[in-house]
Amino acid sequence: MSLKLYNTLTRKKEEFKPLKDKEIKWYTCGPTIYDYSHLGHAKGYVSMDVIRRYLEWSGYKVKYVQNFTDVGHLTDDENEAGEDKIEKRAKEKHVDPMALVENYIKAYYKDFHTLNVKDADIAPRPTQEIKEIIEFVQGLIKKEFAYVSNGSVYFDVSKFEKYGKLSGQKINELKTGARVKVRQEKKNPLDFALWIKAESGHILKYESPWSIGYPGWHIECSVMVKKYLGDTIDIHAGGNENIFPHNESEIAQSEALTGKKFSKYWLHWNMVKIRGVKMSKSKGNFTTIRDLLKEYDPMVVRLAILKSHYRSPVEFDKKVFEDSKKNLTEIKNLLLSLNKINKNKTNKLKVDRWTKDLIQQFKESMDDDFNTPLSLSHFFGWVGIFNRELRGLNKEQAEKIRNGILNIDNVLGLSLNKVEEEIIPENIQKLVDEREDAREEKDWGHADKIREEIETLGYQVEDTAQGSQIRKK
Ligand SMILES: [Zn+2]
Repeated sequence: MSLKLYNTLTRKKEEFKPLKDKEIKWYTCGPTIYDYSHLGHAKGYVSMDVIRRYLEWSGYKVKYVQNFTDVGHLTDDENEAGEDKIEKRAKEKHVDPMALVENYIKAYYKDFHTLNVKDADIAPRPTQEIKEIIEFVQGLIKKEFAYVSNGSVYFDVSKFEKYGKLSGQKINELKTGARVKVRQEKKNPLDFALWIKAESGHILKYESPWSIGYPGWHIECSVMVKKYLGDTIDIHAGGNENIFPHNESEIAQSEALTGKKFSKYWLHWNMVKIRGVKMSKSKGNFTTIRDLLKEYDPMVVRLAILKSHYRSPVEFDKKVFEDSKKNLTEIKNLLLSLNKINKNKTNKLKVDRWTKDLIQQFKESMDDDFNTPLSLSHFFGWVGIFNRELRGLNKEQAEKIRNGILNIDNVLGLSLNKVEEEIIPENIQKLVDEREDAREEKDWGHADKIREEIETLGYQVEDTAQGSQIRKK
């Protein structure tokens, strides 16, 4: 079976054929950097990470570019009005906007490294691409797809017939009411800004042939794709909420300039819901990755995300995380048990067949639009079977099963190859038990002393409702 993926552009599952043999050019819309990453980011970027790993595992060479938006994304982006999101936050915190960006980019890497998400090959930022942005906009003006008005530059949507093809809307059906009031210098309310003249007091501004100003939000992605990947790419990914107007406008900008198809496939991930409502700051149900990681192991969070399909909205509740925790413990225990098997006795167990089926089923479900929930249910099914058959296995068979599981984990990214490192040495376990006893006897002073000793030995104890949990620092 060949790989099929759902293409937002055609609204159907298509066979995946890259432009060039086994090479994939991939661009993902990255986050706007004005706060810590939240669970919605985790869902998006972990899902894309597994797809990227799966493509690499299947023999493709992937060049992956994902930007950080550090200028031009306005608080009211639908109306291209309001303040720059980064400037607004920087003012609230009384810091330099670029210092704010540096801090949150560091935080982004810290969070996503913890979740075992691979770094992009290139992570460009619009503040560092102003020259290229200006050149791109000049090209659009020259081709008469854009016009200058009162120091700002707008894309003339009426010149690009295919506007609306990604979101499946016709130009005359698009809602335009809200936009009319805000920027009267536009010819048509649907036209969107490529360059915006800075109002007084605006901090993030740059010189251009039209005014001292800053780029509109959509232009950066078109510019970065062209600069780092070329005129046409294989995959463009983003969150569902980016389809319109952001991605739609990217297509218009790029195809108007180059006259070539912008991206062959469009992948979009769905949102996170908490108790039935979209997670957002204004709804008060916003969970940052770092808050969540105070409660759960990062690999539990990663597994919980993969239990939903990237295109489905996901409802996270305590149960999803608790179930994932159980699943992960079961797999880890299996791996540790497999490691201990030392027998050489021959038997009739069909281990070669089992591991072949395990890989085959995993591949088939991933080839069907990266169906991670189905892949995982096959995988857990096999973990159950292997656990039941443990007693009969010999050393060679145990090794084969272990290799099969670790092979799949190259895609899942659950760090299962590190399971041995997580084994708690006997001397540490002894201290943990001693501390538990002290706590039971309410001898807090002694319990604290033991905790310190454990910490100096490089381990960390956490007290939970289920007892103390210990992990390497
Ligand atoms: Zn983008």
